[in-house]
Amino acid sequence: MTTVPMVDLNDGHAIPQLGFGVWQVPNEDAQAVVAEAFRVGYRSIDSAKIYENEKGVGDAIAASGIPRDELFITTKLWNDDQGFDNALRAFDASLERLGLDYVDLYLIHWPSPHRGLYAESWKALVRIKQEGRARSIGVSNFTTANLQRILDETGEVPVLNQIELHPRFQQKGLRAFHAEHNIETESWSPLGQGKLLDDPAIADIARKHGRTPAQVVLRWHLDNGLITIPKSATPSRIQENFQVFDFKLDQHDLEKIATLDDPAGRIGSDPDTATF
Ligand code: NAD
Repeated sequence: MTTVPMVDLNDGHAIPQLGFGVWQVPNEDAQAVVAEAFRVGYRSIDSAKIYENEKGVGDAIAASGIPRDELFITTKLWNDDQGFDNALRAFDASLERLGLDYVDLYLIHWPSPHRGLYAESWKALVRIKQEGRARSIGVSNFTTANLQRILDETGEVPVLNQIELHPRFQQKGLRAFHAEHNIETESWSPLGQGKLLDDPAIADIARKHGRTPAQVVLRWHLDNGLITIPKSATPSRIQENFQVFDFKLDQHDLEKIATLDDPAGRIGSDPDTATF
């Protein structure tokens, strides 16, 4: 079976470089979809309270028979659970729905700056990590200013920041800040939610390597040292997205894809102005 490379985190733990995202997988389908991902070889699952499928993910974990220490399970604190006490309570509830006694990674889902609570929430995550109930803690959708604030207030460096990142939105500034602080970058919507798969430059590279556009884009993330978590509920695509460890992009391909970066390429919300 294919072995997914592991990325070392700044706290001594390690995460598979390729995982499986489950946003928009309904809870009633999650057990079967995650079971298919496990069958193909994925061992890292990216869930969140707001996805409302932690129970289905937990059922798949329980039914899989895979030893717990071979899995890497991530979930996230939703915005309206921010604050120190609320975050501790929300974490307990997530763990309960997942049927686990620890998660590998707990993330603050969005900074939600209008609430003014992300630094307090981060302190709760530090506590959860000290208790061993999350092996690692990190953030998602944090800007450099948000990151700087939690570093200044707690000295605790998140292991990673999970951000929107794909060839049309390459986040070079934020990635440089991460590198400076030993924070890994994890790409969400790595395939641009499928929207960039008909890009002619990607199609050309795919033809050249005898691969699909999705495989080329995922390979681009891996070749850039990014951690990534593509989502699909279709068995053939779940498999296709995993078959990316037997080729590499060359310098010319990487340079071509670098030109697709677009300041207006964001698909999701801007963390600074999001009102949720
Ligand atoms: P994605 O870029 O992974 O695209 C998924 C979509 O692309 C699928 O629904 C399908 O339509 C298409 N697709 C997938 N594989 C394909 C293939 N091989 N060929 C053709 N089309 C294919 O988008 P996503 O689901 O938004 O992001 C992945 C994961 O990132 C999510 O499931 C979730 O876990 C995470 N995420 C996190 C945040 C956050 O705020 N932290 C936000 C969005 C997503």
